[in-house]
Amino acid sequence: MAKKKVEFTHLHVHSEYSLLDGLSKIKPLVAKAKELGMKSLALTDHGAMYGAIKFYNTCKEEGIKPIIGCEIYVARRSRFDKETKVDSDNFHLVLLAKNLEGYRNLMKIVTKAHLEGFYYKPRADMELIKEYHKGLIASTACLEGEIPSLIIQNQYEKAKEKAKEFLEIFGDDFYLEIQHHPKIPRQEIANKGIIQLSRELGIPLVATNDSHYIEPEDAEAQDVLLAIQTQKTVNDPNRLSMINSPDFYLRSPEEMAEIFKDYPEAIKNTQEIAEKCNLEIPLGQKVYPSFPLPEGETAESYLRKLTYERLPLRYKKITKEVKERVEYELDIIIKMGYAEYFLIVQDLVNWAKSQGIRVGREGEVRPDLSFLIF
Ligand SMILES: [Zn+2]
Ligand SMILES: [Zn+2]
Repeated sequence: MAKKKVEFTHLHVHSEYSLLDGLSKIKPLVAKAKELGMKSLALTDHGAMYGAIKFYNTCKEEGIKPIIGCEIYVARRSRFDKETKVDSDNFHLVLLAKNLEGYRNLMKIVTKAHLEGFYYKPRADMELIKEYHKGLIASTACLEGEIPSLIIQNQYEKAKEKAKEFLEIFGDDFYLEIQHHPKIPRQEIANKGIIQLSRELGIPLVATNDSHYIEPEDAEAQDVLLAIQTQKTVNDPNRLSMINSPDFYLRSPEEMAEIFKDYPEAIKNTQEIAEKCNLEIPLGQKVYPSFPLPEGETAESYLRKLTYERLPLRYKKITKEVKERVEYELDIIIKMGYAEYFLIVQDLVNWAKSQGIRVGREGEVRPDLSFLIF
């Protein structure tokens, strides 16, 4: 009888958009997942979502279900605390979007982490996680996650309290991550505590590989990236490096199943999570701020009206030639579906000018907008 194919999804994956940390380019990454027989794949870049749309589109093209996530940085205190030494260190946490609401919430968390929490890294905090948790799945991340960190520091009870806190926020959508990096002794300690937590609190396990590159032989190149990031030479023995454990590649489902054969549920749960994630991002639509139109007007009719109203401000005499030119330009703008866009731009440019705020170079107006601007 043929061996049953292992169903597994990688849910902790970095691409080159984990800047100077991840090596994998999106296209080969997705192609590799497909080659390995996976039906879905997550992207969890560090602190940012720059690669999300490219990844989403590439997966769709390849017939793979895209799971959009992020391995966020979590401030030790609040995201507003930025004290030397105390706050320079942070925790990792993996978040995955189940649906559009989750995707939007993830964008909010990541944006606020950049705008409000930036201190060495874009940091979210527990307040943001609580506020925007809807539609998101959380898992405890690598050894830099708060729960694994506490376990390693021999603070099991504190880790348990933290796990309860996440459980309260995420309920069934909270998972404990186990990884297998045998060259890193702390991983073994963390796994032991995590498995104990799973048993005591009934929180499901999930197996991940924290993939930073695609093939095993990419480990060295990724190590060079890391040296660039930390501004050290590769020969510096004290630098942050993952080269001693060259197993952060995209392991095959069979390899993952073999490694975690004592915890088959951790493999199975990757599929449970993949099934929970069904994000459809509406693309190819115009997303403009809505421009309030006077009653009875369409964007096209109002653009036309404003243009003719303001034409005498530009031309003393409206000759046949001017009229032909205006009609020609309006025709193109309207045909291309840009009427609303032009209304918005003229609004903000005119407002800026009315407030004495300089727009562009003094006296210069884009020629195709000139008839709309005072
Ligand atoms: Zn991490
Ligand atoms: Zn990671």
